[in-house]
Amino acid sequence: MSSLSNLINDLATGKVKVVDLTQALAPDTPVIALPDMFAQSPGLSVEQISLYDDKGPAWYWNTIRLGEHTGTHFDAPIHWITGKDLAHNATDTIEPAKLVAPANVIDISSEVAKDEGFLLTPEGIEAWEKEHGKIEAGSWVLLRSDWSKRQGREAFLNLKENGPVSPGPSVAGVKALLERNIIGFGTECVGTDAGAAGGFDPAFPAHTLFHGAGKFGLASLANLDKLPAKGSLLITPPLKLVNGSGSPLRVLALVVSS
Ligand code: MN
Repeated sequence: MSSLSNLINDLATGKVKVVDLTQALAPDTPVIALPDMFAQSPGLSVEQISLYDDKGPAWYWNTIRLGEHTGTHFDAPIHWITGKDLAHNATDTIEPAKLVAPANVIDISSEVAKDEGFLLTPEGIEAWEKEHGKIEAGSWVLLRSDWSKRQGREAFLNLKENGPVSPGPSVAGVKALLERNIIGFGTECVGTDAGAAGGFDPAFPAHTLFHGAGKFGLASLANLDKLPAKGSLLITPPLKLVNGSGSPLRVLALVVSS
């Protein structure tokens, strides 16, 4: 039997489960808030076309409008200026084989419970690898913070007087993950960078350095507490938007049942 036949069988018997890492997407889904001098990205709006009525007697459908980076979404390298000239850098040109990849889940939820702005450092990554094994080239690193359990815009964006406060990687943490040649970095927060990352050097290192190296991002993930530290397989295809900088997507993980 091929490994794919085994997988089909394991899915049928429940030995392999499908875990949904996606937040529900609705008009009240919080979107990142930029400083006033910059253009803002709109959240989701939904307008009904017909509902089995005079406008369409047997069918229901809607028109949607939203920013590419709304809710659980994919960041393509072209999103950032550092990745703008790379090959295969947009949602329609990323090689499909890169949209199925294994995941490493680094759990910082207990640290974040004490410090909302907690940063993942090289030391934290090395300590995780000592316990769980090396982070392989071509795999995702997902940061489990339990941030997805926060209800409502205020708690999720956590805007304070001096800007947003939320966890993410430090500059050195981003560089350490790049040394491991990961495929991308995912977070439960509204964006891949820490809330304070606008003040880092370089600013927004997860965007600046990961996208500059052709790596991907996943933001507003959920259910990372349902994944093992190692051994899950992520399926992450964004919409095939021509020249898209990213898109909302359904993120699925295949996990062996324990
Ligand atoms: Mn984004």
